[in-house]
Amino acid sequence: MKLKKTISLLSAAVAMCCGTALAAPDGKPWMNTQLGAAERASLAVKEMTLDEKLKLVFGYMGADMEHKKYKRPEESHVQSAGFVYGVPRLGIPNLWETDAGIGVASQAGPHARPGTALPSGLNTAATWDVQTAYAGGAMIGAEARGYGFNVLLAGGVNLMRDPRNGRNFEYGGEDPLLAGKMVGAQIKGIQSQRVVSTLKHFALNDQETGRTTLDVKIDDQSARMSDLLALQIAKEEGNPGAVMCSYNRVNGVYACENTYLLTEVLKKDWGFKGWVMSDWGATHSTIPAANAGLDQQSGMPFDLADYFGPPLKEAVMNGWVPQARLDDMARRVLHAMFEHGVVDHPVKAEPDKIDFNAHAAVSLKDSQEGMVLLKNSGAVLPLDKSVKRVAVIGGYADKGVLAGGGSSLVYPAGGNAVPGMEPKTWPGPVMVYPSSPLKAIQKRLPSATVSFNDGADKAAAARLAQESDVVLLFATQWTGEAFDVPNLSLPNKQDELIAAVAAANPKTVVVLETGGPVTMPWLPKVPAVLEAWYPGTSGGEAIASVLFGEANPSGHLPATFPASEAQLPRPALDGYPEVENRRFEVSYREGAAVGYKWFEQKGLKPLFPFGHGLSYTEFGFSGLSAGVKGGVLQASFTVKNTGRRAGKEVAQVYVAPLKAKWEAPKRLAGFQKVDLQPGAEARASVTVDPRLLAMYDSASKTWKVAKGDYKLILAADAAEADDNKALSTVVHLEAAAYDVNGKPLQPAR
Ligand code: BGC
Repeated sequence: MKLKKTISLLSAAVAMCCGTALAAPDGKPWMNTQLGAAERASLAVKEMTLDEKLKLVFGYMGADMEHKKYKRPEESHVQSAGFVYGVPRLGIPNLWETDAGIGVASQAGPHARPGTALPSGLNTAATWDVQTAYAGGAMIGAEARGYGFNVLLAGGVNLMRDPRNGRNFEYGGEDPLLAGKMVGAQIKGIQSQRVVSTLKHFALNDQETGRTTLDVKIDDQSARMSDLLALQIAKEEGNPGAVMCSYNRVNGVYACENTYLLTEVLKKDWGFKGWVMSDWGATHSTIPAANAGLDQQSGMPFDLADYFGPPLKEAVMNGWVPQARLDDMARRVLHAMFEHGVVDHPVKAEPDKIDFNAHAAVSLKDSQEGMVLLKNSGAVLPLDKSVKRVAVIGGYADKGVLAGGGSSLVYPAGGNAVPGMEPKTWPGPVMVYPSSPLKAIQKRLPSATVSFNDGADKAAAARLAQESDVVLLFATQWTGEAFDVPNLSLPNKQDELIAAVAAANPKTVVVLETGGPVTMPWLPKVPAVLEAWYPGTSGGEAIASVLFGEANPSGHLPATFPASEAQLPRPALDGYPEVENRRFEVSYREGAAVGYKWFEQKGLKPLFPFGHGLSYTEFGFSGLSAGVKGGVLQASFTVKNTGRRAGKEVAQVYVAPLKAKWEAPKRLAGFQKVDLQPGAEARASVTVDPRLLAMYDSASKTWKVAKGDYKLILAADAAEADDNKALSTVVHLEAAAYDVNGKPLQPAR
């Protein structure tokens, strides 16, 4: 006892001498930074009154809503997503929440804050480079802190089960490993700035049509091996302070009052210590929601009632929601605030200086690194600077680059480059960032004639194409929150435009700015296609730098591009977009066989496979070796740049069981992006997460690896991995079992 006291006195003395925060001099022991987050949160909760706890679990919308006659709390930030009152008496700050998937977003209105937009989440996933994802997150975190936000509604990792999903651009694609690693790295980057990031949308919210009414049907095993695995990996990588539960129902129960999802999977199985907040309008009850594991209602007045306001107080007072549960709810909010520095490093009331130039450079690099060169068969790309007559057609390329719509929208400095497009209101406005590809191209060709045609009249566009040496045709597809695209065709007859222009000039390069996969009936007629996604703040510059070869494209698809909708598990989207509030079921009949897994299982040939991406140089793989070390499967190999330009290759390791039965013939098991000078080679290696070698067993909550031989394939995309010519090796694995988090069980069960 005496010894303990001496030690704590000593540590207080050390803290005093060295200027770190100390055991609170004013009798607030939870402000002692030397204690862990769990202890600090418990100490603070002990001090709190019932009303103070209730404050922490109730969130407001941070923007006025005229149609609801709602005025945001005075203390909230203008046109922001959310606000939660803290407990100033105890030194617990307010929570200022902003959407932050690709940058610091604003709600619509006259006072949008200018922000730096990264390219789409899909672009970041297409980089296959966790450092790029981390850097993007750190940029967003810094900008958010600069604007006085301490909770970032980011970390979207809904799996791409349907390429028509309007929000695919916010997420990380179709593979749980890639999506989980990339989004996890972004969350980690955000939280490096001492703000909390969410992980969202939990869970299985993979289409927008009927998102608040649909009921996803899926079995536990399939869920754990697909959408939940992506979330689990992102949670492990990023350690998010908060998780946002989604709008939809899962097997009959709303995600935000789903005991299985919130309490069993997230909190018990995965050991999540932070808090669960509802999506805006996703809370439907008081007692069921609180007892199922929802910790905070968000965004009132989005919900029909203030379920976690006075009704929760009454439910706690009469015991329907145990006092211990309310304490847990408050403790979880505090845990995340302490753990991620929100209390110890409070945000400032007034905006800080933000280094927009440095942030634009982060966005530029992300875009360059994630743009995917889908096709390059002629000798058109990279563009030769001696070209004399260049036609730039379509896609508002004279003005800027497209952004995706909805709550993640970042408003640019300089305003919308093409204001007034429909829809002007939610989920609009349709935003074009003022970063003009045309200007960036002209800058690089000072003595050429670079002409622009907006593509509205295809005959006029074709005439310009005919008079030009090369054509750069920009095609766009606007997608956004709250709706799905009806099909995968480019809208507004752009397919016809491309066909007409390509017929007039065979040297036509198509640059796509799309939310996700699109079909390309004109593909055989054009020599080159570049998928630029929504390329963000520096998009025009990024596109030009790749077209001219200053940046060598190194993005690889994080999702399969289907040849047609008929190849999808649901050729027609489920739901009734025209009937509000109609309830319906969506059967995830593909189970865990999402994306390329489905395509391979069904023997379907996509337009472009998962993992695909070309470069202006060439690469070769050799020397693949694999083995189990310390119970972990590892593979190493050599990547060589066999071409004449510096470039980056994404080496993808797939695993296919020779005998064991999985949901699909093979899975992505690891990847490594390698940067190589011409002629240079490097040895690279990956270790394989045992969950990617196993089937999840719901009854025992374990991941079980079956004894047998497994083929490890090193490939540049999923289709190449199917090809027998790809480099491969066979490893023998003994039967093994891992706990629900993929940790070895001793002895193996
Ligand atoms: C979206 C969330 C977002 C929230 C707050 C909802 O419509 O689904 O992703 O964080 O709004 O803006």
